[in-house]
Amino acid sequence: MSDACILNGHIIDPANNIDEVGNLSITDGKITEVSGKEAFSDLQNTDVYDAEGLIVVPGLIDMHVHLREPGFAHKETIATGTAAAAAGGFTSVACMANTSPVIDAPEKIEQIYAIALQTAKTNVFPFGSITKGLAGEVLTDMRGMRSAGAVGFSDDGVTVMNASLMRDALTLSAELGFPIMVHCEEHNLNAGAVMNLGETSRKLGLIGSPNAAEDIIVARDIMLAEMTGGHLHVLHVSTAGGVELIRQAKKRGVHVTAEACPHHWILTDTEVEKQGTNAKMHPPLRTQTDIDAIIEGLCDGTIDAIATDHAPHAPWEKAQGMVDAPNGIIGLETCLPLVLTYLVRPGHLTLTEAIAKMTTIPANILGIDRGTLSVGAVGDVTVIDVDTKNQVEVTKSRSKSRNTPFTGWELKGWQTVTLREGKRIGMPPSSK
Ligand SMILES: [Zn+2]
Ligand SMILES: [Zn+2]
Repeated sequence: MSDACILNGHIIDPANNIDEVGNLSITDGKITEVSGKEAFSDLQNTDVYDAEGLIVVPGLIDMHVHLREPGFAHKETIATGTAAAAAGGFTSVACMANTSPVIDAPEKIEQIYAIALQTAKTNVFPFGSITKGLAGEVLTDMRGMRSAGAVGFSDDGVTVMNASLMRDALTLSAELGFPIMVHCEEHNLNAGAVMNLGETSRKLGLIGSPNAAEDIIVARDIMLAEMTGGHLHVLHVSTAGGVELIRQAKKRGVHVTAEACPHHWILTDTEVEKQGTNAKMHPPLRTQTDIDAIIEGLCDGTIDAIATDHAPHAPWEKAQGMVDAPNGIIGLETCLPLVLTYLVRPGHLTLTEAIAKMTTIPANILGIDRGTLSVGAVGDVTVIDVDTKNQVEVTKSRSKSRNTPFTGWELKGWQTVTLREGKRIGMPPSSK
């Protein structure tokens, strides 16, 4: 007897090259049958989902979120952030270390796992920080945090400006096989910047950050990865130059992977004029030239994964104006519809390619046993209706925060059912 059966769905599992209509069953939290055409004999006490006309994929993985716990419960907690993730079709998230206190020691990794065990809707995989307190001065005990379950290391939010420390981190990465996830902005070039440097920043009289601030650090860290053999993962690529640097590095065989976020391949810096602080993020929204380059990078595999950089902030924090408001937007509930509407529908990516960038590829980068529908794999599954049209209604978000530039956008293609180990964890944001 199964925990759950999903019948007659169009199953897409990029890891196993499955792309066909069939049935899927989950027993004791594990996938026991996939693509079985024959009817299941005993469906009593089983959750049965009719997926006729729907797409069935491995549970989505977001490799870059900020859950804000511990320390910033007014923005988000592990409970609310993972509830938003589940509503968005994600069954696994990897969370950044810039909490308070910073996740910079083995016992703090254990603490995240302990809180997640009690309160999380989805699987939570924590990153540890590269430097103690994100201060950029002393490396953390990465070996110890790795043993405690850290899936990678990042000072996300800030750049490690000391190249010698980055070399040491990447040297350890080469030895132990974890990714170093880098937020690339040269602090001096970026000083005081609240948006992209360009026509709009000049018009608004705001300090802008040039593309070079990002490109310089991408180039530096690629050189250090090349020198050490470590695994570099470039977070939230936002520039055409960054895409090209990563493309050339991959051609030379450097161990570099990269991700891009929906806002960076949909919105330009002109959005700041319309939306104010809901269009303020680091790295900032850039130009159409950068958007075109990121989409090309997603298409040719230069950019491996799609992530949200879900960055909740309370309304009063975002109301402080462009200079003082914190950076970032929420993204967990809008990511899949944005991918389907802006990458798949226009034909930039096939559905299989897009799903791979949100399942098997991030799983491989993080080294986690998720992102596939193989028999015996963990029964994390997402069901998608690619034909449903819905408006983004931020008031219905499961996140504690409301900072999104996509309010009111009509998107086509939404998650309908999210199962974690065969148990339903998420209803789509449109139903409450
Ligand atoms: Zn960042
Ligand atoms: Zn981030």
